[in-house]
Amino acid sequence: MTNLTQTDTSSAVMDTYKRFPLTLTKGKASFVWDDQGQKYLDYTSGIATLNLGHIPDQVHAKVTEQLSQLWHCSNLFEIPAQQALAEKLKEVSCFDQAFFCNSGAEANEAAIKLAKKYAKDQGNSERVEIVSFSGSFHGRTGTTMAATAQEKIHQGFSPITPGFRYLPYNDLTSVPKINNGKTTAVVLELIQGEGGVRPAKLDWVKAIANECRENDMLLIIDEVQTGMGRTGTLFAYEQYGIEPDIITLAKGLGSGFPVGSMLAKEHAAKSFQPGTHGSTFGGNPLAMTAALATLETMLDNNCDLFKNVKNNSTRIFSELSSWKKDLPNMIDVRGQGYLIGIQFDGEVTGIITSLREHHVLALVAGPDVLRILPPLTTSKKEIDQFLTILHDILKAQLEEGS
Ligand SMILES: *Cc1c(COP(=O)(O)O)cnc(C)c1O
Repeated sequence: MTNLTQTDTSSAVMDTYKRFPLTLTKGKASFVWDDQGQKYLDYTSGIATLNLGHIPDQVHAKVTEQLSQLWHCSNLFEIPAQQALAEKLKEVSCFDQAFFCNSGAEANEAAIKLAKKYAKDQGNSERVEIVSFSGSFHGRTGTTMAATAQEKIHQGFSPITPGFRYLPYNDLTSVPKINNGKTTAVVLELIQGEGGVRPAKLDWVKAIANECRENDMLLIIDEVQTGMGRTGTLFAYEQYGIEPDIITLAKGLGSGFPVGSMLAKEHAAKSFQPGTHGSTFGGNPLAMTAALATLETMLDNNCDLFKNVKNNSTRIFSELSSWKKDLPNMIDVRGQGYLIGIQFDGEVTGIITSLREHHVLALVAGPDVLRILPPLTTSKKEIDQFLTILHDILKAQLEEGS
């Protein structure tokens, strides 16, 4: 048997990631240092995870305190930090209850299970399908991979978990196809992160929200990447004037501590009871302390942090867009807040390498999209440095090419 791609078996670690040739040993705020002592501006933020930058002081203080109190006790005991975090999330959202787990995929698994159970509890046992959209990314577990409507993610893993139906993203004309009598829920990202930084259109999202409300289907918004301030509001759904039934969170929730959550409105949440779902580690005291401190820090000073993101990102987007006239290989600038995608007319790995040589770290979102994920706390000065370096690289590339 041969593999589709060359597998590196020289390492004892399974070859599931193509890694940058860089070993990071230290991080603080917007910067990381490698094992050679070189400093880099980190605009990957651990893939949209370190929304407060590396080792934020308030989170560090709370986690350090908790480290000498209690790490783990399981959900068979009361966990005050879990209660406090759930209360806080309820206060700042349209949701009534939270479930805690350890990752984005697990949060989506919880949402998918809840949607199925909800249909049964409503007496709609024929409703077993969930609709998702082309280009989505919902995780790597068996079921969330099936929810992910991307052929390349499914490849090699058949039979894929049944129960998902895929429709085109941002296509108003296919909204009436969502409800086929067997649909219990719809899951979507308001900006497809891994799928190329693609924002959902307002009228499409509103039409889906209506369709869900009128037909008693649950609207699940996957905010694993867009949540926790990434788009300039605590949650991206706030900018769409909708109230989903369920959202899922993970990446930015714990400042790098692994933690995920599903938030739901009461009518849906009540389908989970003791014994229907659970997690050994989910919601443990350390994770909850990290997440609670992260959320409290974000809400400090009347959410000044989000106002800064909005103001700075307006400037970043207008600056980037203004480059298009001189840089013909730049096709599109997309996103919201600090979830920024620049599409080029070819592969962007060369740009990523050049940026790294200039001590700036950035990501891809598909082969031709450069994804920039600054920490929400990045300074105006760092933004300016980044823009100058990127512009110089793109100019130089253009001159080499011509
Ligand atoms: C990253 C991501 C996931 C998966 O999260 P994991 O923590 O890697 O399981 C799910 N949905 C979206 C939108 C993501 O960006």
